[in-house]
Amino acid sequence: MTKKIKSINPYTGDPIKTYETHTTQEVSSILKTADQTFSSWSTTPINERAELMSRAGEVLLENKKEYAEMITAEMGKPITQSIAEIEKCAWVCEFYAVNAAQFLADAMIETEASESFISYDPLGCILAVMPWNYPFWQVFRFAAPSLMAGNVAVLKHASNVIGSALLITDVFKKAGFPEGCFQNLLVGHEEIEDLLEDDIIKAATLTGSEKAGVSIAATSGKNLKKTVLELGGNNACVVWKDANLDKHIETMVKARMQNTGQSCIAAKRFIVVEEIYEEFLEKFTEQVNALKIGDPQDKETDISVMAREDLAREVKKQITESIDQGAKVLLGNTQNKTYYEPTILVDVKPGMPAFDEEVFGPVAAIIKAKNETESLELAANSRFGLGTMLFTENIEKAKKSISKIEDGAFFINEMVKSDPRLPFGGTKASGYGRELSKDGIMEFVNAKTVYIS
Ligand code: NAP
Repeated sequence: MTKKIKSINPYTGDPIKTYETHTTQEVSSILKTADQTFSSWSTTPINERAELMSRAGEVLLENKKEYAEMITAEMGKPITQSIAEIEKCAWVCEFYAVNAAQFLADAMIETEASESFISYDPLGCILAVMPWNYPFWQVFRFAAPSLMAGNVAVLKHASNVIGSALLITDVFKKAGFPEGCFQNLLVGHEEIEDLLEDDIIKAATLTGSEKAGVSIAATSGKNLKKTVLELGGNNACVVWKDANLDKHIETMVKARMQNTGQSCIAAKRFIVVEEIYEEFLEKFTEQVNALKIGDPQDKETDISVMAREDLAREVKKQITESIDQGAKVLLGNTQNKTYYEPTILVDVKPGMPAFDEEVFGPVAAIIKAKNETESLELAANSRFGLGTMLFTENIEKAKKSISKIEDGAFFINEMVKSDPRLPFGGTKASGYGRELSKDGIMEFVNAKTVYIS
């Protein structure tokens, strides 16, 4: 039986469109098409695959206004940030179009054999389960390397961004990819278990919450299928006394408030040593106050509504509990439907939800540290492990801190951000596996040892 999935504009509250989920027969036919396409796509020369991927990048740029407007309508991202998201997708397509052949070239290894090497073969159909917060980017950073490696993909996108999901399929169609290379599955997340049990699905990737990660990893494990999990984060932004606040405060505010605080790699805990604490608070507050709040379709808007009302209510609950435990509101904290005012919370301590949990909204939790040693201990005190930022002018000392944090990324004097040229991924409750760069394309290939005596 089919169900209805409704897209609602979080800023206006108006319905955008209602979609019907696929029937069991439709799902089965989509998987069959994927499987049949894999036979031809996996043997298509890599330069031909690269031409199509490069064309996908062009299609994204040619249609960026339409695609960005859909992102903004469906999940409320300020329009300039939606445009930037589409441009970044074009970049990742071009990056893999140019570099995939070199990444996937046979790796010769000298042994006593006359010839021995590793060949990198595609796996087949990969299931991608994706979130709404960067509805194009999360998909393209998986799809560009996976398709270039010769895999095909089916996408189960988050239920509030189906319009974006359909446009993504359209990008590949317009670029000239065979139909079965990239298809949408309009299904609820309850149906993912059955999909993972299907022989056609060879592996899965999820970007989403820890809860979804545990569920997908468990079913994939039972079926001996590989997974890549990009889950939540609770990144620390550590500020030492010699940080150049005048130069970097804007970056620090962006690190928290970009995408209205709904980013896995956002700076969620600001850990500031006491010598610079008051100056940091003053400059940080001034910069947050300068953010232009408004209609996400307005080019001047820096920060707008959250993607859904239940998400805003969840943030309210976490902040209210933290206040009950002693945290204080320095700025903001009103919530009305999908709107959450940019908020600064001080006196945050371990044990409070604002310290321990991922707060997925525009709330900066500020923590005072006695000294640099304590600042790093507090930064490392997290179940999550996506990334850490450290602001200081003493680069040599900062470099000695890198090994003290177990995260997947360590950024000095810059916000944690993804870049097609660099690997991206987490440790601990933030998941495992890597996306982007050479590491990303290697996740869904069979590294086959070839030995010729
Ligand atoms: P979510 O609720 O986990 O949803 C993500 C996707 O998983 C959606 O397609 C969703 O489908 C599906 N899903 C939900 N529950 C599931 C379950 N029990 N089993 C299998 N699939 C399930 O996460 P979200 O609220 O969309 O996204 C926010 C989360 O994603 C945050 O924790 C954020 O940090 C994380 N994230 C991580 C990264 C990263 O790179 N590490 C990047 C972006 C976001 P439905 O929509 O149908 O429920």
